[in-house]
Amino acid sequence: MTAHFATESSREVIRLLEQAGYEAVFVGGAVRDYVLGKPATDIDIATSAKPEEVKALFPMTVDIGTAHGTVLVLIDGEPIEVTTYRTEGTYSDHRRPDEVQFVTSLREDLLRRDFTMNALAMTKDGELIDLFGGQKDMARQLIRAVGHAADRFNEDALRMFRAVRFTSVLDFAIEEETFEAIRAHAAQIQYISVERLKAEMDKLFKGVNPVKAFQFIEQTTLSNHLPLFPRSLGKLNKMVPFRTAVEGWACLMLAGDFTSGAVAKAYKLSNAEKSFLSTVHQASVRRSNSLFTIDDYYHFDLAVLLLAEKWVHIIGHSSQALSEDEITSRKQSLPIQSVADLVVTGKDLMAWAELRGGRWTGEWIEKITMAVLHGKCENNSNNIKEWFLNEFKREK
Ligand code: ATP
Ligand code: MG
Repeated sequence: MTAHFATESSREVIRLLEQAGYEAVFVGGAVRDYVLGKPATDIDIATSAKPEEVKALFPMTVDIGTAHGTVLVLIDGEPIEVTTYRTEGTYSDHRRPDEVQFVTSLREDLLRRDFTMNALAMTKDGELIDLFGGQKDMARQLIRAVGHAADRFNEDALRMFRAVRFTSVLDFAIEEETFEAIRAHAAQIQYISVERLKAEMDKLFKGVNPVKAFQFIEQTTLSNHLPLFPRSLGKLNKMVPFRTAVEGWACLMLAGDFTSGAVAKAYKLSNAEKSFLSTVHQASVRRSNSLFTIDDYYHFDLAVLLLAEKWVHIIGHSSQALSEDEITSRKQSLPIQSVADLVVTGKDLMAWAELRGGRWTGEWIEKITMAVLHGKCENNSNNIKEWFLNEFKREK
């Protein structure tokens, strides 16, 4: 096996470190994903060289966490994270080590890692280093803490949520001792910042089996200690899969009967995410009352329409079910998808009315949009001009 998952540049980084007399190997998620036959994302290298020694060796580096031993090496324009072998000292706040100590042995570095599958290393020639049975656990699709699970979660509570996130991303189960330790330490999840929880939740929503993760969240009682989580999972489970993470957040909102503001506040969603949730909320209220109107098809994005449609069927608020294809084709068959599709602009209106622009132009563009949408005139210049001049004169 050769480490083909790694890029040429990252192998070059290892080669240069070795040439200078240091040890260097691939570690972390990229190795795990490679063993699972998945494309690697970010590539991490661990080395016995100290940060200063790494910086001295490569002409282009960026300090991204020298105190923690991480240097970003730029080689042929590619950024590669190189981290000095380290152990972590005591943890007094259940989230960050009080200090990190650089060490010389890879074994010590791997010991501080969270799960056996994440504690694999690979040489640049593709030789796997598996000190804690990671491969065996992966073959059984198990997430198992390295060392004593209870201690590891007591050190850093985020690991509990990482375990849950991986159940969705990898469709793995949590090994028994690890599971029991999460249950015993669930309350400590409150020490973790919502930003970090949100990042894990985003990955969970995008994973292949979010239902599995939701179940683990409930069974481990992590659900009782999260900033916000639906009390029962039935409806949420029926909403999977999620096309994007923000769809997951929207479904969590609907299933928990939360407001968009409450979810946004609890998990510090971005403004764009918050506004997506709010729109999904509006659409589902409208769809609960009647089928979507032409105006709804126009105003709501397809993703919003599809989510709201699915939701009202799950909660039994509509007898008439429309398929995804039907919703899609109804939206696509609108004469225009947005105002940009109108063949006329405010300038045309000004010329036709022989008036200067003003607030009226925007208002009439809106009226023309509605007329075109509702089939009162076609989206071509002559048709619109005729309709506009008629209506404009009438209203004057
Ligand atoms: P992803 O594929 O989502 O990037 P990952 O396992 O690579 O998953 P990273 O956050 O990139 O996650 O971390 C890289 C590696 O660092 C992990 O594989 C693991 O070995 C170690 N690690 C990350 N977070 C922790 C933690 N909280 N406790 C112990 N080890 C950790
Ligand atoms: Mg990673």
